[in-house]
Amino acid sequence: MPVLRTVKDYIRTIVDFPHEGILFRDVTTLFADPRGFRMAIDQMLHPYAGEQIDKVVGLEARGFILGGAIAHQLSLGFVPIRKKGKLPGAVISEDYQLEYGEAIVEIHDDAIQPGEKILLVDDLLATGGTAQAGIRLIERLGGEIMGCAFIVDLPELGGRQKLEAMGMDVHVLCE
Ligand code: 5GP
Repeated sequence: MPVLRTVKDYIRTIVDFPHEGILFRDVTTLFADPRGFRMAIDQMLHPYAGEQIDKVVGLEARGFILGGAIAHQLSLGFVPIRKKGKLPGAVISEDYQLEYGEAIVEIHDDAIQPGEKILLVDDLLATGGTAQAGIRLIERLGGEIMGCAFIVDLPELGGRQKLEAMGMDVHVLCE
C-alpha cells in the first residue's frame, strides 16, 4: 500500500539558513515533486474556485511559482509584486520592517484596475510584514482582496492575526 503524503510531508527544514538559529522551511522539495506540487496548487485554489476573481497576485519569489500555476488553473491573469527596482514600468511602492532594517516592494501602477477582485499568494506567512505590504499596494490601486493563500503559516510569529485584523480571509495548508 502506498503511503499517503500530505503537503507538509514534502517540505524540508534547513537548519541555520539564512542565519544561525533560523529553521528555514524549504518548499523547493514540494515544488520538485509532481504529486506534491499539484496537491499544493489544488488545495491553495480550492476555496476560491467558485468565486469571482479577476487576477492572481504573487509575492516575489516563490509566490510567482505558485501564483502562475494557480492563475493558469483558474484561467486568470497573473501580476507580480517585486522587490524594489526590478519592475520596468511605472510603479507604486510600500516599505515594511524586516528583523534587521526594512525592505521595499513594488507593483506596476496599471497592473490592477479599481474594483478588480484579487487573490494574493505566497509560500509562507511569518510576521506578515511582506503580505501586509502587498495588501497595501493592491488596495492603493483599488483592488478588492478576496483571499490570501499560503502553503505554510508560522503561527508563533502572528502574521495570520495581523492579516485577519485587516479584514483578510487567510487560507493556509499547514502550520
Ligand atoms: P514575513 O514578511 O511574513 O515575516 O515573511 C514571509 C516572507 O519571507 C515570504 O515572502 C517568505 O517567502 C519568506 N520566508 C520567511 N521565512 C521563510 C521560510 O522559513 N521558508 C520560506 N520558504 N520562506 C520564508
